[in-house]
Amino acid sequence: MLDRTEEILADLIAHPTVSSDPNAGLIDAMATRLEDAGARVEVFRDETGDKANLWASIGPDMGGGVMLSGHSDVVPVADQDWSTDPWQMTERGDLLMGRGTCDMKGFIAASIAMASAYGTTNLRRPVHFCFTHDEEVGCLGAQNLVQHLKGRDHLPAIAVVGEPTEMRIIEGHKGCCEYTARFQGLEGHGSNPDRGVNAVAYAVRYVSRLMELAEELKLRAPRDSRFDPPWTTVNIGKLAGGVAHNVIPGRAEVEWEMRPVQYGDAEFVKEQLTQLIETELLPAMRAVTPWADISVETIGEVVGLEPMDDNMARSLVAQLTGGNSADVVPFGTEAGLFQELGMSVVVCGPGSIAQAHKPDEYVSRQQLTECLTMLEGLRRTLAA
Ligand SMILES: [Zn+2]
Repeated sequence: MLDRTEEILADLIAHPTVSSDPNAGLIDAMATRLEDAGARVEVFRDETGDKANLWASIGPDMGGGVMLSGHSDVVPVADQDWSTDPWQMTERGDLLMGRGTCDMKGFIAASIAMASAYGTTNLRRPVHFCFTHDEEVGCLGAQNLVQHLKGRDHLPAIAVVGEPTEMRIIEGHKGCCEYTARFQGLEGHGSNPDRGVNAVAYAVRYVSRLMELAEELKLRAPRDSRFDPPWTTVNIGKLAGGVAHNVIPGRAEVEWEMRPVQYGDAEFVKEQLTQLIETELLPAMRAVTPWADISVETIGEVVGLEPMDDNMARSLVAQLTGGNSADVVPFGTEAGLFQELGMSVVVCGPGSIAQAHKPDEYVSRQQLTECLTMLEGLRRTLAA
């Protein structure tokens, strides 16, 4: 099975699926392999036709079972010093090198390699494959796929997201939400501030409220939070506006992010800010000019994976890998989106996050073998 995994991985690496480029060719190739293994395959293309998500199932057509999830896109190689061709899988001893080997085509290759074994087994519960586009730029593909899955009554009970964790079980990570707030005021001479609308001054009031909220979030931290720091954090990343001492600035911009540790925190912050804008800032600005405005652009909202006391995915993967602990990590994944759909989710996959996004990215055969052992255990579990 390792040979087959390596052959598929080489094929996957040869598709340069950088997030800014098409991935549909890779998805079509995987769809063919999965169909050959007896899977029921659906491919969802976006409106351009260049980007695609894949959903496939093997086993009985029913709810429950286990979903194997991975993103097909990779980060760019530009400005990186590679010692090999990043788009051609290269062996170096036990290591298989190439862009995406660890993040996360190794897991996808192992899953597809196992598909034929799943297809010839009399499974009592289904196994599903979920491969997405554009994870690295804000989980865009998974967000689209979730819209297709939402209405279905047959959803998997468990999801394993195969991001590189060196096959350790990860049961939680924070979310990551990024926003840009733009303030449109009215320029004027500094000698008569009330004739203008000082965009910088209003941006500062917005930032002040954000800083208060950052303190309130500390009090909302779950008592047994294992995150570091344990609460939802806010960072004011950029504050820009104004031209000179004696000019009322007409424009200002604030870039900020928050990293939620639990559902509800992001909504709490957004509601508080909307209230501030609608009941205080905008009325005051528009009392001077009706053209004044504040717009808040959502750059990305990746939901977190919230650690749960009861987690079937954790129990299953612990049994399959022999892992007896579960951790939280600082990086984001698609896992929270599936948790929101009601699935029980863990992150567990081959390779190390230390190699992800770096030149000479690699996954070891040892790690792929451990992953295949888990997937073979899954085959037996689903057949039992
Ligand atoms: Zn990844």
